[in-house]
Amino acid sequence: MFSIDKIRADFPILNRKVHGKQLVYLDNGATSQTPQIVIDAIVDYYSNYNANIHRGVHTLSQEATDKYEEARIKIQKHFNAKKSYEIILTSGTTHSINIVASGFSALLNEGDEVIVSALEHHSNIVPWQMLCEKTGAVLRVIPMDEDGSLRMDIYHELLNGKTKLVFCNHVSNALGTINPIEEIIHAAHKFGAYVLIDGAQSCPHIKPDVQELDVDFYVASAHKMCGPTGVGMLYGKEELLKLLPPYQGGGEMIETVTFEQTTYAGLPHKFEAGTPNICGGIAFGVAIDYMNNIGFNAIAMQENELLAYATEELQKVDGLRIYGTSNKTSVISFNLEGIHPYDVGAILDKLGVAVRTGHHCAQPIMDYYKIPGTVRASFSFYNTKEEVDLLVAAVTKAQMMLS
Ligand SMILES: *Cc1c(COP(=O)(O)O)cnc(C)c1O
Repeated sequence: MFSIDKIRADFPILNRKVHGKQLVYLDNGATSQTPQIVIDAIVDYYSNYNANIHRGVHTLSQEATDKYEEARIKIQKHFNAKKSYEIILTSGTTHSINIVASGFSALLNEGDEVIVSALEHHSNIVPWQMLCEKTGAVLRVIPMDEDGSLRMDIYHELLNGKTKLVFCNHVSNALGTINPIEEIIHAAHKFGAYVLIDGAQSCPHIKPDVQELDVDFYVASAHKMCGPTGVGMLYGKEELLKLLPPYQGGGEMIETVTFEQTTYAGLPHKFEAGTPNICGGIAFGVAIDYMNNIGFNAIAMQENELLAYATEELQKVDGLRIYGTSNKTSVISFNLEGIHPYDVGAILDKLGVAVRTGHHCAQPIMDYYKIPGTVRASFSFYNTKEEVDLLVAAVTKAQMMLS
């Protein structure tokens, strides 16, 4: 049974005050808060079995290795990958995307085409621009519509025999739009193109099934799903991960090394050069267990209720415009007429309400609406309607002070 009081008690940070006011944390799209059970796992690691993995014969190293590999299997099960070695542990979404983009620079030719969506985070634009510069491939963009959805009619026109790769986020971090990734993947495959889905913003809300989606690559960060920062995952189909060259050279990713030739280790180690974020990986597994114990249906129900309520209440504020109104997760991007989003955010902070302001690493979306940025409130399952009321009261107060 979903008990909001019980859940909030899992998050010690929710008790703190900011500028003398009770914290109202509505910046979950940037990073989620951390439950005690994940904090405990981090403390346990450094208190009891901190050691390097995959190399030692000693007990601590064996324990750390076992826990780290257990975490990989938890992640595999969560995303329903066929094999545990199809899960590469990375430092986060950005790192995961760069592994794939850099790998394809060896596989693309001049004149090949790469499609990205207009709703992307900069971390899913810049690596592909770099890839195209290196290879002479052409970058095409699926434009967006006024309501924050993608122009799927144009996507279908962009696809052709030269299309090699398609990149799209599952959920837009700036607007919350849930993109029709099933359709995007299916249509790309008809032309033999591979698809990478950026799940950084969807994974806190939706449990994806990579086999059912038949997606080629899927990436996410732990810190947006109740885990620590500096760790994330890359799922890739086995045959594609085998095809891509390694991203970095170093320890752990080799089988044999001589000065004449080095042979690479098998999956997943080929992409895991150097000492990884061992503690972070283990804590990522604990965070996934925590979210699954609450259940993604319960999470969606709570968050959808908050989204509907906050939308209704914010719309009552005169001169407030919400950007992105199509099918979405619990993100509300908005502006007050004639007031800079940064000024609104600064006053909200003084009132204890944490929101994000700015372009949200998605400048092309801001250019589309011809605005410098937005105020973004993003909800998690541990937020409450009372907190929505505090947000609306703070926005109203900011408007009074600034106009
Ligand atoms: C947060 C985010 C990223 C970047 O994630 P990092 O953890 O900073 O690497 C990429 N894409 C989307 C959609 C995001 O929300």
